[in-house]
Amino acid sequence: MEITVISSKRNEMIDITSQVNEVVRISGRTDGLCFIFVPHTTAAVTLNENADPSVQRDILHTLSKIFPNDPSHEHGEGNSDAHIKSSLVGASEMVAINKGRLVLGTWQGVYFCEFDGPRTRKVQIRVI
Ligand code: ZN
Repeated sequence: MEITVISSKRNEMIDITSQVNEVVRISGRTDGLCFIFVPHTTAAVTLNENADPSVQRDILHTLSKIFPNDPSHEHGEGNSDAHIKSSLVGASEMVAINKGRLVLGTWQGVYFCEFDGPRTRKVQIRVI
């Protein structure tokens, strides 16, 4: 199954936990694994804290500090910083399912990471 994520900033972390849990619910599977895949080269998916939004801001700020948009990059599109962040954060996550829901830590959420927005994005989800 595929979900759509609409980003509104160039760099943004969007909590997609409830959408992923909805896909798990629709699948009818109560135990198993949920595979979450981002089919984009300037976006990613990660798991992190969903309680304090300053954590997401700090992650994005730190990534941009370490990997700035460097004019010496050769890629003609001018978004190599986004490609680098995408590769380092990663295109997929795997989360266990129990009782029809994702098994996440108390403070954990599933985040779609936009690094070259705003854009309309897709996330592939497979329940196995
Ligand atoms: Zn590019």
